[in-house]
Amino acid sequence: MEEFHKILDLDKVEKSSMKKLWLEIIRDSLHKPIPVPITVVKGAQPGPVVGITAALHGDEINGIGVLHRFLEKVNPKNIKGTLVCVHVANVPGYRKKIRAFTDRVDLNHIMPGKKNGNTAEVYAYQLFNKVIKQFDYLLDLHTASKGRQNTLYIRADMDNKLVARMAKLIGPEIILHNPPNDKTLRGAASKAGIPSITIEVGNPSRFQERYIKKTVTGIRALLCDIGVLIAPPPAKSAERPIRCRNSKWIYTDSGGILEVKVDLGEKIKKGDLIATIRNIFGDLVIEYRCPFDGIVIGRSFDPVAESGARIIHLGLRDGK
Ligand SMILES: [Zn+2]
Repeated sequence: MEEFHKILDLDKVEKSSMKKLWLEIIRDSLHKPIPVPITVVKGAQPGPVVGITAALHGDEINGIGVLHRFLEKVNPKNIKGTLVCVHVANVPGYRKKIRAFTDRVDLNHIMPGKKNGNTAEVYAYQLFNKVIKQFDYLLDLHTASKGRQNTLYIRADMDNKLVARMAKLIGPEIILHNPPNDKTLRGAASKAGIPSITIEVGNPSRFQERYIKKTVTGIRALLCDIGVLIAPPPAKSAERPIRCRNSKWIYTDSGGILEVKVDLGEKIKKGDLIATIRNIFGDLVIEYRCPFDGIVIGRSFDPVAESGARIIHLGLRDGK
């Protein structure tokens, strides 16, 4: 049976137990709590607190599947430390099946929020202070946004040794070096001294079994490595992640019907055709070519494009 809590007091969770609870973050206009669903797994022995957050963008659902899959195999007896799984970080966005918060603010652009701010800022502040600050490690699960597809890739500060190790242990297809931006959850957590990575698990508004399984295996490998999960580590995948030092979104400079001609994970060369724009009658009006050699980290699959629509997220490979 789930319980309702005003604060997240990890000391009060019994050793060797798994607790499902609702944590009040802020109150709505009916003076009712907006509760965030959390599972706490407290190990038999002390150790670090590992936080895994899903759906900070309300329509990024694969992370919820990752937590379901991960938790069904977790036995608190094999845990040294505490796992805090935030099933839905942005509850109002999730209810509406949208990325943003109720006031259209992107929670991942305003972290760690403000104590006295607008609704999204106060929500972000309370979430950060009640929950995130208690973590010793943060894994923040995301997906592409609406109309786009992602590979399984990680954003991490690869100049930080511990963070780089965390990223590699997940075993993604691509690791993108991305110093934490101040206003993201990863950035705010990093600033608070919490080693953090963002795991981009495929596409929004769906469960993708292959990516979910791969992410769960990666999380288990990471937990074994830091000594939180006492179990034989999962077998390493033979594929090594492709490292990117930098990346760039390529945009349209005109509107029309967009057809992206390259696939996720495809290695492409400068000058390759990446997309076309046709007018509504079907006449070919523009061809877009790749500006530099790289790999396709993400791409649009929405043909309806205005000027300035995203085409592909192009990663510049390390050492290239
Ligand atoms: Zn996201």
